[in-house]
Amino acid sequence: MTRIVWLASTLLSGISGAQPNQPPQTTLPPPPRESSAPGAVAARVLLVAAHPDDEDTGLIAWLARGRSVETAYLSLTRGDGGQNLIGNELGEALGVIRTQELLAARRIDGAHQFFTRAYDFGFSKSSAETFTHWPREELLGDVVKVVRAFRPDIIVALFAESGGHGQHQVSAILAREAYDVASDTVRFPVRTFGRPWTPLKFYRTARFAPAAATLTATAVKNHNDGSNPPR
Ligand SMILES: [Zn+2]
Repeated sequence: MTRIVWLASTLLSGISGAQPNQPPQTTLPPPPRESSAPGAVAARVLLVAAHPDDEDTGLIAWLARGRSVETAYLSLTRGDGGQNLIGNELGEALGVIRTQELLAARRIDGAHQFFTRAYDFGFSKSSAETFTHWPREELLGDVVKVVRAFRPDIIVALFAESGGHGQHQVSAILAREAYDVASDTVRFPVRTFGRPWTPLKFYRTARFAPAAATLTATAVKNHNDGSNPPR
């Protein structure tokens, strides 16, 4: 996964550095909907994490713009509990700002943006502690709703289910549970949560733990270099 991030960074630097004498672009044309790019993949990918600044912008841009994959980012919270080093807004006001930041990012990379009802109450040490603040079943229902609405072929958790910030752990837990139950219309009725959907794959990025990677994008890198991808 390190390779993916590196590749995306390279791609992005290529975009911004194409015209070195021009002022930096603040907007880019929308990515092609009907993909004709070499190596384009007809798929939908949903990335899941806890906070606005958890987003893997490199991976999102690489998928949405580089590979013409319909991509979405689900942030469980709006980052209300974060710190603000450039202004006085905190709590809900900060959540509004960070929401707008994500929406602005999506206007650039062309991906979709989703949230759940989860309120960012600040740091917690474990998923168990986080679930004392968050209603687990309701939040899982929110994630199932997003999965059924966006209908991803692949769900990517950006964090592991243990270690680090408790809200990060919960994002991984709920991403995996939603992958397992998005087709269960008894637990999550169609009338409330939408038509059932069964994603094909579940991945977890190794962005914060590169040594844990079991899969890299070597084939993709070769293809983007102009060589033939392995069959
Ligand atoms: Zn976070």
